[in-house]
Amino acid sequence: MNTDHIDWNNLSFGYQRTDYNVRCRYRNGVWGEIEVYSEETIPLHMAATCLHYGQEAFEGLKAFRCPDGKIRIFRPEANAERLQATCRGIMMPELPTETFLEMTARAVRLNERFVPPYESGASLYIRPLLIGTSAQVGVHPADEYLFLIFVTPVGPYFKGGFATTDYVITRAYDRSAPLGTGRYKVGGNYAASLRANHEAHEAGYSCEFYLDAREKKYIDECGAANFFGIKNNTYVTPKSSSILPSITNRSLQQLALDMGLAVECRPIPEEELATFDEAGACGTAAVISPIRRIDDPETGHSYIFSQNGEPGPVSRKLYTKLRNIQYGIEPDAHGWVTVLD
Ligand SMILES: *Cc1c(COP(=O)(O)O)cnc(C)c1O
Repeated sequence: MNTDHIDWNNLSFGYQRTDYNVRCRYRNGVWGEIEVYSEETIPLHMAATCLHYGQEAFEGLKAFRCPDGKIRIFRPEANAERLQATCRGIMMPELPTETFLEMTARAVRLNERFVPPYESGASLYIRPLLIGTSAQVGVHPADEYLFLIFVTPVGPYFKGGFATTDYVITRAYDRSAPLGTGRYKVGGNYAASLRANHEAHEAGYSCEFYLDAREKKYIDECGAANFFGIKNNTYVTPKSSSILPSITNRSLQQLALDMGLAVECRPIPEEELATFDEAGACGTAAVISPIRRIDDPETGHSYIFSQNGEPGPVSRKLYTKLRNIQYGIEPDAHGWVTVLD
């Protein structure tokens, strides 16, 4: 089998069919055997709880073809643990970490021919999904669940190189409530953000920017990514009960400490944006998406983090460091990377 049909250098962040996906079902209180499928569809009861009551969780991580020819997966244990936290949050059975890791490695190995070449800058996106499948019309957790992992090759986030973009503060919509599901990786949070995202795009911005839902006073998230700011040799990132705990953010905090920066995780009032030398959004898709400007249409204020559109030096250094660890170019001092052999 070949992959001649794939133009590795021009992949988007879309879905492309691969050979196999792996599945595991939860029935009668236990997780079953891991099964390999080539079908892309799932048979699903029309009364499944995932469809009606949002019992759905997902994860996102990446595998990289490295200069040494090996394939590396970045921090899959952290994704397994975050999925378990989501499961507790929306009353789904927790998938054991070892099952998650075994299925992740199998999904990548079975689709090895779809792991893009190093030179393309593309990678293999891994999408785990967990859904409540049993039929129910009352609002209760399901008795049965399906966990699956599919993979799809995706292009580099920055086609023209590491670059800044503009964000707009939204007050018209919240993606999550202070004690809601914002801290869990569930589809409902994304449904809640689609309109705000659409309106931000229509207005010419790359993404919407959220303040805390209760007071509209503190920084929450940059669309579906975490926020960080840099000033006084310090990496500052918001603390909030409605933010999704980003594994990229956690990794960048560690790298910032390693580089001798201080790290602060605390509420960040909107006005403090004016004091940062650099700011960025972070997540698996881009690692860091540096921010040029954040506009607040209500106050008419523009917070500017880059005069010439270039990313700042600290953001660039953090970005390069994390990418080099993912690609096995620099030592993996914190044991983050799983090397497939
Ligand atoms: C997935 C996600 C992130 C980024 O998390 P990573 O683990 O770094 O990929 C940030 N915010 C939201 C809302 C997310 O869903």
